[in-house]
Amino acid sequence: MEFREIHATWLQRKNKEGQTNATAIQVPMGETETPVAFVPQDLPTTHIGVDVPSSALQDIEHLSELQGIDSPSDAFIDVQASTVSSPTFTVSTISDFTPTELGEDIAEEQIPTRHETFYLEDGNVEIVCGRTIFRIHSPIVSFSSSRLRDMLSRSTLLDAPMPEGCHRIVSKDSAEDFAVLLKMIYTPGFPAWGKVLVFTVFASLLRMAAKYGFSDVREQLVDSLKGAYPTKWEAYQAANVLGEDVFGSPKPHPNTVLNLFLEQNVKFAIPFATYRAALGGFSSLISNEPGTVLPRLTLAFTIYGMETIRRVMIQASHSIVYNGNLKVCPQRACALSVGISPMERRMEVLKKICSVMVYKSKDDILSPLPLGGLVCVNCAKLLEDAYSICRERFVWSALPSLLGAGGGRESV
Ligand SMILES: [Zn+2]
Repeated sequence: MEFREIHATWLQRKNKEGQTNATAIQVPMGETETPVAFVPQDLPTTHIGVDVPSSALQDIEHLSELQGIDSPSDAFIDVQASTVSSPTFTVSTISDFTPTELGEDIAEEQIPTRHETFYLEDGNVEIVCGRTIFRIHSPIVSFSSSRLRDMLSRSTLLDAPMPEGCHRIVSKDSAEDFAVLLKMIYTPGFPAWGKVLVFTVFASLLRMAAKYGFSDVREQLVDSLKGAYPTKWEAYQAANVLGEDVFGSPKPHPNTVLNLFLEQNVKFAIPFATYRAALGGFSSLISNEPGTVLPRLTLAFTIYGMETIRRVMIQASHSIVYNGNLKVCPQRACALSVGISPMERRMEVLKKICSVMVYKSKDDILSPLPLGGLVCVNCAKLLEDAYSICRERFVWSALPSLLGAGGGRESV
């Protein structure tokens, strides 16, 4: 389907939702994918006499900030906040539903359990993340960052309850993230730079480093991605590991990695992370598994971007094969040893070579062409070089504009 059509359908759906769902309940993305009946464009575009709530505008601004695009056109302004916020990230954790937010009843049901490592008996402050309770030493933790110092300040603790003899405060961080933060504070040499990190630990470190101001840690983490998320063709060719393979086992879903980079604004890595996500194919891109759900605009830009890249590479393949520059090869085992006479046989060979290249465009365009079984080493190299020039010129240079559109504005 053309991108314009996808976009038009999408706008129709948004208008429809904006018109009928004044108090729409946010549903998971999977359910919003159900096709809706056609609604003529001119019906819902008229104002329904209600000013846009300021929260809706904030959501829109927040969204566009994340997506790195300019403010949406008027078509978006009529849309209810609840529908605009549908392309949210799915990195939400249980910490988003802390007892304080859900009220007393649920707080009683969610009795926190002690963290197995960081419930330090001689600690003096308790921190509750979701259902996990940490007990820590406030002087040690405060010493590591000014933001943690504020969180554990005397004035904050003054109002905190003391259910088990220590001041207890509630954090919105997930228990997993907070445990990694404490591990970093309490364990010298963690994280060990130069060693492969498991993605979940990497993600927790990146979130916590940004949130609590450990800028050197964030810098190191971002640096460790540079080889695997190249921004230059030469760097891509020189890379030993690419994309999510830079993380330890279990390997994360490429969408999950992309979501983290979008959320944490690791801007340089977004185009290649998007490309890696696109390699998984359509069903992988639209995955509904927790953590893999991509924001709608990112998804739309990715599908459109890959479509464009593939179209360009198919055109390039045709021109490489049929522009008459492929010489007759002296190697007898090489398919290109067939000369122009008879013409039919030569065309047959060229068609085969072209179909390998066209097929490639559906696959990982950046990896080598599988021409080995067809032509000799020399001819394979010639074709590969010609194809590479197109890769570099059309694909690589276009990655940031075509696949980086879902990214933020700040540079890293
Ligand atoms: Zn040859």
